[in-house]
Amino acid sequence: MLYADLVKVYDRLESTAKRLEKTSILSEFFKTVSEEECEHIILLLQGCIFPKWDSRETGIAQKLLVKSLEIATGKNEHELKKIWKECGDLGLAAEKLTQIKIQATLFSQSLTTQKVFENLQKIPVLKGQGSVDRKLQYTAELLTSAKPLEVKYLVRTIIGDLRIGLGEGTIRDAIVWSCFEKEIKLEYNNEKNELQFPNKDRTKYEKYAELVQEALDISNDFSIVLRKSRNRELDSLQLVVGRPINVMLFKKAKNIQEALATVGKPAAIEKKYDGFRVQIHKQKNNIVLFTRRLENVSSQFPDIISAVIDNVKAENCILDAEIVGYDKTTKRSLPFQNISQRIKRKYDINETAEQYPVKIHVFDCLFIDKKTLLKETFQKRRELLKDSIKEKENVITLAEQIITSDENKISEFYEKSLDEGHEGIMLKNLSGIYKPGSRVGYGVKVKPTMETLEVVIIGAEWGEGKRGAWLSSFIIAVQKEDDFVEIGRVGTGFKEKSEEGISFDQITELLKPLIIKENGKEVIVRPEIIIEVDYEEIQTSPTYNSGYALRFPRFVRLREDRGIKDINSIDDVEKYYAEQRGRSVIKST
Ligand code: AMP
Repeated sequence: MLYADLVKVYDRLESTAKRLEKTSILSEFFKTVSEEECEHIILLLQGCIFPKWDSRETGIAQKLLVKSLEIATGKNEHELKKIWKECGDLGLAAEKLTQIKIQATLFSQSLTTQKVFENLQKIPVLKGQGSVDRKLQYTAELLTSAKPLEVKYLVRTIIGDLRIGLGEGTIRDAIVWSCFEKEIKLEYNNEKNELQFPNKDRTKYEKYAELVQEALDISNDFSIVLRKSRNRELDSLQLVVGRPINVMLFKKAKNIQEALATVGKPAAIEKKYDGFRVQIHKQKNNIVLFTRRLENVSSQFPDIISAVIDNVKAENCILDAEIVGYDKTTKRSLPFQNISQRIKRKYDINETAEQYPVKIHVFDCLFIDKKTLLKETFQKRRELLKDSIKEKENVITLAEQIITSDENKISEFYEKSLDEGHEGIMLKNLSGIYKPGSRVGYGVKVKPTMETLEVVIIGAEWGEGKRGAWLSSFIIAVQKEDDFVEIGRVGTGFKEKSEEGISFDQITELLKPLIIKENGKEVIVRPEIIIEVDYEEIQTSPTYNSGYALRFPRFVRLREDRGIKDINSIDDVEKYYAEQRGRSVIKST
């Protein structure tokens, strides 16, 4: 396919904010994509080159991109930066510059999506001597052959900020529309020149949407699902060891009664350990560990790998577990912060493992010896889990569990869990299936603290006076459908010096590479840094586009373990807002 054809679709998607219109555009486009093209086209539509669980990253350093643009457009860095500043978007600036150049040159050949994809895939793997020059060469080659609008989207893809407002939900719906058009009876609106969603046939639509969603849950890959949907082979999908899937999420309950009302009686009650979640993939002695953001952290945890090799009996399996730090002398569990530095560690791995020992509490299994278990009940999965693991104290154990309907017993278990330094308890529905990526009610958490919010930083402001070199006030946002809405500004809770916690200069360093627009003291950043904030109260407010504002928001900690989809949504904010008056209830059981 010509890159120009994909670019036309990008442009149409960017020009409308209406989700149904986007779905219609995309579903028609999918019909023109060949079997072989599915994989790279879907990745390019998402603005990436590798699947999200692949640790290789798309793109090159911004400096190198500017250099490639100099080569491609014949403009010097100064001129380029001037236009960039005017447009506030490097993609638009590059498009403008190419338009100027177009008068002077003729494009020799047309770019194909395959060529774009191949060149971009070559770049991240280049290492060592001469790699900078070769990166430059591959990027410049693409930019030189691209037409102005193509340049705009190429640049945005390279910097990892495609910004066409295309969420995963829309891609999923477009697959349903495109592949099951006849079954769900989509109608064509001649006036609008687009497919229309038939409201009268919603249940039929929901059936197919669910089938497609289940296939996505298993494969975590839109291109596989598009191909399988076309060929009516959705039910043939199985989990694959080595390919992570989105983990199931848990709702919060105010207290034990509310929790039981959600999960039913009797329920499985487990300790809620305060560590970080890993998905353990085992294929004989080949073990891969993924965080809940699907990052591969295997090399940081050789101790976990050997614990799994030595104590997991199943040959092939995918396990869901919490990794928890503990005190070497007392063996008491330690809060997450104590081991958080192990997740990003690149050197002195063994020494760090010695210094900050961890243990594994396994609480679920998704696949054991060739069988996908997502549709099995929790009780059954727990039995299979028990049979697959040789438990060893302070190395690997199943999450401690009781099964009961008795609220007094649950309260006792809760108190005990807190006394042992854990976060609270989890209550789980015994017959619940495993629903990847969803916050369904098969499990709920009960913890004693007032709920904090996990939010993403979308902008910031440079400080004044002695804080002039730092970003010192941060615009925070929560999710609303495929977008973010602002909920306040946070400037407290950060430290002046880094020894005591996260300091202003550390957060500034994290945000600087993400700046996409500057306007005086204000900057807009790519929404990647997730932080946990607490606050005194939620108020309604016309100041922020969420309609709400946090009163006295304060930074609590960085949430490097969280992905953008894990952050709180506007629905959570509305719920907490409504619950505020009963806050004392939240604090107790
Ligand atoms: P939260 O992070 O507050 O949404 O709570 C859910 C998280 O608790 C999960 O994602 C796990 O990382 C963690 N967790 C700790 N113990 C358990 C357990 N027994 N079952 C499930 N999740 C647990």
